[in-house]
Amino acid sequence: MATAVKSLMSVPILDLKAQYVTIKEEVRAAIDSVLERQHFILGPEVRALEKEIADYCGVKHAVGVASGTDALILGLRACGIGPGDEVIVPSFTFIATADAVSALGAKPVFAEIESDTMNLDPMSIAKAITSRTKAIVPVHLYGQCVDMDPLLALAKAHGLKVVEDTAQAIGSTYKGRQAASMGDVGCISFFPSKNLGGYGDGGMVVTNSEETARRLISLRAHGSVKKYFSEEQGWNSRLDELQAAILRVKLRRLDQWNSARRAAAGHYDRLLQNNSEILIPGRNGFGEHVFHQYTVRVQQRDAVQKRLADGGVTTVVYYPTPIHLQPIYASFGGRPGDLPITESACDQALSLPMFPEITAEQIEYVCDALQQAVKA
Ligand SMILES: *Cc1c(COP(=O)(O)O)cnc(C)c1O
Repeated sequence: MATAVKSLMSVPILDLKAQYVTIKEEVRAAIDSVLERQHFILGPEVRALEKEIADYCGVKHAVGVASGTDALILGLRACGIGPGDEVIVPSFTFIATADAVSALGAKPVFAEIESDTMNLDPMSIAKAITSRTKAIVPVHLYGQCVDMDPLLALAKAHGLKVVEDTAQAIGSTYKGRQAASMGDVGCISFFPSKNLGGYGDGGMVVTNSEETARRLISLRAHGSVKKYFSEEQGWNSRLDELQAAILRVKLRRLDQWNSARRAAAGHYDRLLQNNSEILIPGRNGFGEHVFHQYTVRVQQRDAVQKRLADGGVTTVVYYPTPIHLQPIYASFGGRPGDLPITESACDQALSLPMFPEITAEQIEYVCDALQQAVKA
C-alpha cells in the first residue's frame, strides 16, 4: 500500500474564477440588463461608472476608454504631448508606459528607480529634465504610490505635466490622497488581471480639469465632440457598456478586495521576513499599498522560479528586461549599466501568487516552497 505523503498543491499566480463565483449572480444580472437595453457603446453604464470612478478617486471627471494603454495615450495627448517632446518614464515598468509616449511621436526618457520600492526615484527625474521635457509619468508599481510630493514639486518648478500610470494601483493612497488624483491626469486599466479588472479590455482617464476632460471626450471619438464634425486627429477608443456594467459590480467590492490583498501581503511578510536570502517588498510608508503584486527579490531568480514551478507554484517576472534595453528603443542607444538599479531589479524580481481570495494555506505552501528553493 502506498504511504500517504503530503500532497503536492498547485498555487496559481492569480485565480479569477475564485472571485467570479462570489459575484456570479450579480454579474450575470448586470450583463443581462445591458443585453435587454441593447445600448452597447457610451450609454448609461459607462456614464454611471465614470461618475463612480471619479467619486472613488476624488476627482471631478472620468472618461472611459478602450484600455489602460489608450488611457495613457489619450491622457498624454490631452496634456498636449506630441512629436519632439520628451517625457520622463521609468524603465522598470510594463512597456505600455513608454510606448504610449512614442506612439505620439514623443520620446520616452528613462529615469532610475529606488531599490527598495522599485518605484521612480525623484532624484533621478531631476537629472533627466531637459529644455524639451514636457511631462513625467510616475508608475505606481505593484500597487504602491510613487513618492509624489518631490515629483509634483519638480513638475511645478519646470512647468511639466504629470500623467499618473495607475494601471496597477487603483485604491492606493499617498498621504491621504488617492492614486490617479494627484497629477494632471490619472490613467487606469481594467485589464482582467488588474485589481479592478473587467472581463475584457477597458480603461479610464481621470482629471480635475474640465478642459482636459472635454479634450478626452473628443479624442476617444475621432476628435469630435459634436457627431460627424471632427476638430482634430483622434481615435476610436471607448469603454463598452458590457464592461462598464461588470466593473460597476466589482467596484463595490474593490476596497474589500484590496484589504484582503494587504492581509495576504502581511502573511507573506511574516513568513519570509527572517530569511536573509529573500528581500520582501519595500514600503515607503506614505500610504496604503494595494498589492497588485507581491514581489520579492532573490539571487539566481530564474533557477528559483524553475524550482517553484516544479513544486506547483506559479510565479511571474515583472519585468525581465528593462525598457531602455528592449529592441523597440535600440535606436536610443541604451546600454547595459545605464540604469543599474533597474537592471538589478529585472534580474531579481519575482512576483508570488497574489489575489484577494488566496488562502493562508496557499500562502504557507508558497513560502515553504520558496524557502527551499532559495536554499537549494
Ligand atoms: C497593465 C498596464 C498598462 C496597460 O494597461 P492595458 O489595459 O493592458 O492596456 C500600463 N501600465 C502598466 C504599469 C500596467 O501594468
